[in-house]
Amino acid sequence: MVDDGFYTSFSEKMKLDEIDIENLKWILEKESSTLSCKYCVKQNLLSWSNITGETQRNINVIAEFDKAEEYIKKNGYTEYHPEGTNYWSSDAPVAVQFYPYHESKINVCSKCGAVFLTYTEYSGHGPQHRIRYIKKNLIVS
Ligand SMILES: [Zn+2]
Repeated sequence: MVDDGFYTSFSEKMKLDEIDIENLKWILEKESSTLSCKYCVKQNLLSWSNITGETQRNINVIAEFDKAEEYIKKNGYTEYHPEGTNYWSSDAPVAVQFYPYHESKINVCSKCGAVFLTYTEYSGHGPQHRIRYIKKNLIVS
């Protein structure tokens, strides 16, 4: 279980770099090519999942998306699924202009360099910290 207070204060206090989609692709190039990692357990995070303490301890938040506010204002809770995927699909496109990607922060595994997006989901029974492991071929602009 993630300590809510710690996570919130940590992410709010830090002034993060703002990156665009090209920067994101560049960061993705640096991932080592292992298919699984026992530290971040990326092999289990191909679709949005609730973040576990174990994963949390092994990733570092490094940036957020530039123009995030603009995209949030423009697209709100609209999701982008032109190929019939849904929120939970492991092959859902990573569309950084759309929910929930536009409000996500970029995280990297300190061991394997895998890239994750994280955000806080408020629509259920209390806030949930969600995470998804990102692959380059799923990114759409
Ligand atoms: Zn890892």
